[in-house]
Amino acid sequence: MVCWKSRDEAPRNGRKDAERLYQAATDPGGTPVTSTVVSGRVAEAPTGSRPQVAAIIGGGAAGALAARTVLRRTNWRTVLISPESRPGRGVAYGAAGPWHVLNSRAAAMSVDSADPGHLLRWCHAQGLPAEPATFLPRARYGDYLADQFAAAAATAGDRLRRRLATATAVRPEPGGFLVTDDTGGTTRADHVILAVGNPASQRPAAVTDEAYRSVEFVADPWAVGALDAIPADQPVLLIGTGLTAVDVALTLTSGGRRTPVEAISRRGLLPRAHPELPPPAADFDLPASARLRPLLRRVRQEIAAGADWVAVIDVVRTRADSLWAGLDDDAQQRFLRHCQRMWEVHRHRMAPPIASRVGDLLRDGALRVRAGRLTSVEPHPDGGLTVRVEGEQPRRYGAVVSCTGPGSLPGAAGPLLGGMLRDGLLRTGPHGLGVDTDADGRVRDAHGRAQHGLWLVGPLRRGVLWEATAVPEIRGQVERLAGALLTPNLQMQ
Ligand SMILES: Cc1cc2nc3c(=O)[nH]c(=O)nc-3n(C[C@H](O)[C@H](O)[C@H](O)COP(=O)(O)OP(=O)(O)OC[C@H]3O[C@@H](n4cnc5c(N)ncnc54)[C@H](O)[C@@H]3O)c2cc1C
Repeated sequence: MVCWKSRDEAPRNGRKDAERLYQAATDPGGTPVTSTVVSGRVAEAPTGSRPQVAAIIGGGAAGALAARTVLRRTNWRTVLISPESRPGRGVAYGAAGPWHVLNSRAAAMSVDSADPGHLLRWCHAQGLPAEPATFLPRARYGDYLADQFAAAAATAGDRLRRRLATATAVRPEPGGFLVTDDTGGTTRADHVILAVGNPASQRPAAVTDEAYRSVEFVADPWAVGALDAIPADQPVLLIGTGLTAVDVALTLTSGGRRTPVEAISRRGLLPRAHPELPPPAADFDLPASARLRPLLRRVRQEIAAGADWVAVIDVVRTRADSLWAGLDDDAQQRFLRHCQRMWEVHRHRMAPPIASRVGDLLRDGALRVRAGRLTSVEPHPDGGLTVRVEGEQPRRYGAVVSCTGPGSLPGAAGPLLGGMLRDGLLRTGPHGLGVDTDADGRVRDAHGRAQHGLWLVGPLRRGVLWEATAVPEIRGQVERLAGALLTPNLQMQ
């Protein structure tokens, strides 16, 4: 694998590689046979016998899984475009503290769904004690993903290229796409796989422009160092009470904080906890329905009949994409309005050690969780932020952290997705959730046409699949995409 920002940075022997590859781009017969960016410019190339070129944008878990799968399942050339030095970590496993553990058991988090023991074997090879039911430290899981990517890269040799860059534009061109990045480099590819993670964090409506721009307001708690400046001797408010808020509360209380952390949301619901050991699996019929009520009734019946609610939720989860696709638009809207929060707290659960730590913090008064409707967040004249909650006296906080999760498109789109939206190369997903795709992950253009060669994996498929954020689902997306990539008619594309 080679990776340079431009030909001039290439080391002497790298330059030879670059030249050799560039020569390969134009074979002695003068007919270009392949094209991958080495320098700031790409060579024209027809399709045909040459191996296809896939450009993967994004080096988090989804991008690393996609690259690994394309390299293992095809003879294609693959270009990974991402600013990360060690792909695989991304937001979730890159910025994790020692107190952050996975919210899924080790047996569910292997890179191959056909080999659930893969992660455990890696742990044991690292001397890391782990059982199938273990909730591993997130940072170690990042090591695992990075190692799997590195192993695939080592095997692929020069079939894999890395661009340590951020893609700024994707444009269709005859026979493929042109990806431009922030180093001024371009990549020409037959297939582009978007693996760019979630959009930017949602901005809570109650937060004024001034407050939003202030140092006391943390819009993105995952940004490196985002929580470092929060004073330990002043009250802090977290907007949201989901897993993000739990993560932030653990970080803020990990350093001997002297004032409580408060978390607020409309219903004040914390995620439920995983049981110490997985319950017996439930197995019951759950026919797809266009309407929501029959599904909810079926789930309640199963629990009333004695099935463990965790096992029942896990059955619904495994069928989420077909159930969601089966609901008509009105039923999906109803689910979003009335059931989404309950689903989130039962589906995205805290690992037992996290739940026990949160229990201690609640008992000690170091963490307070409450329900309420924020009406405004604005700068306080003496510093900090004034927060108004409906029916309460205004209160002053040293800092306010947005833990409301990713925003929606187009508002939260960055330059790349924003440009593709404007160009009609993609459109927002159902109910404004993520990006619209077909079942295999082909991105739909502004007219709803699924585009051969333009693919998406990761949480942005939420509008189409509903469950699209966790590793087991992302792994499933990648495996399905690999199958679609290899279907003959696409190769003829
Ligand atoms: C804090 C946290 C904890 C989680 N814990 C778990 C868990 O325990 N179990 C589980 O199953 N799931 C968990 N998830 C969910 C899931 O694992 C993540 O959603 C998954 O890591 C998403 O991976 P991703 O690659 O899609 O996104 P990201 O990790 O966000 O990676 C996207 C990458 O794309 C890059 N990128 C973005 N735009 C561009 C561009 N224009 N050009 C080039 N590169 C770009 C970014 O630099 C980033 O590295 C967690 C998520 C979070 C946020």
